[in-house]
Amino acid sequence: MVARVIDGKAIGAAVDQTVAQAVQALVQAYDAAPCLCVVLVGEDPASQVYVRNKTRRTLAVGMRSVEIKLPATISQSELEDQVKALSRDPGVDGILVQLPLPAGLDSDAVIACIDPAKDVDGLTEVSAGRLLLGRPGLRPCTPTGCVILAKQSLGDLSGSHVVVIGRSILVGKPAGLLFLAQDCTVTLAHSRTKDLAAVCRSADILVPAVGRPEMVKASWIKPGATVIDVGINKVANPRKGEGATRLVGDVAYEEAMEVAGAITPVPGGVGPMTIACLLQNTVLAACARRGWAAPELSAA
Ligand code: NAP
Repeated sequence: MVARVIDGKAIGAAVDQTVAQAVQALVQAYDAAPCLCVVLVGEDPASQVYVRNKTRRTLAVGMRSVEIKLPATISQSELEDQVKALSRDPGVDGILVQLPLPAGLDSDAVIACIDPAKDVDGLTEVSAGRLLLGRPGLRPCTPTGCVILAKQSLGDLSGSHVVVIGRSILVGKPAGLLFLAQDCTVTLAHSRTKDLAAVCRSADILVPAVGRPEMVKASWIKPGATVIDVGINKVANPRKGEGATRLVGDVAYEEAMEVAGAITPVPGGVGPMTIACLLQNTVLAACARRGWAAPELSAA
């Protein structure tokens, strides 16, 4: 068997397209476009790339984009004041604080300063509580992208056994809850899980979100299963010379291709979906805040 590749780039582009149409309709109806504000603290090169991509795609779908760049030397209270000011700013619909923050800054305390109505990353306690309670709200972007990819691949997910490896606030836990909301049977595995390989082999849908390059081997995958690989790991790329690197996921992709029914590549799988879901959340946040009629979107 050779797995079907789930093309996150194409599916993400389709979500962007739907968002762009929604933005156009909102501009026509209300003469205003949703506005996403991204806060970048420090000069971490990976974060700079992520923020640049978010800004580019925000503008491409017709929304307003504000980038706030702050020095790594900023104090905790100054940073919190900035985020509180954005929370009060009526022109801002969505606030995303790029994580991780430089050492010494407390990201939990900063996230707590985001108005839950503008929490397009779905990370505040209010958003997490709404997700847990099954109430409408803004959902974390990466796990939402995972569910969209699984639905695109399989259609109805009801009754599927999903194994998520990882239980972080950012990915693992919300992914588990979002798949549960699709009537899946969910197992959250983690570093203390006994016989992880056997647990993974019981999955119809396997979602590794660990951060360990190529940890999941072909022998961990049930034949025909769908694999949604969240991991992004930089490893050496000796073929391209000394010091060169390449990105790999948490799954040993080449061998997994021989067993899985469908699989997301890294890069080009979950990654592009994260920004697509961020844009979608910004539209949803703008509509809810401003009392605009919410357009049809592909939210999971
Ligand atoms: P994290 O906070 O470090 O969490 C990692 C999780 O993996 C933890 O729950 C940990 O278990 C578990 N784990 C670690 N070693 C393990 C092992 N040997 N066996 C089983 N479980 C193990 O990471 P994260 O923020 O969730 O991110 C996970 C990965 O997703 C990273 O590679 C990250 O770069 C990637 N990511 C991608 C996107 C995207 O857009 N594609 C977005 C966010 C994150 P314990 O809780 O027991 O320690």
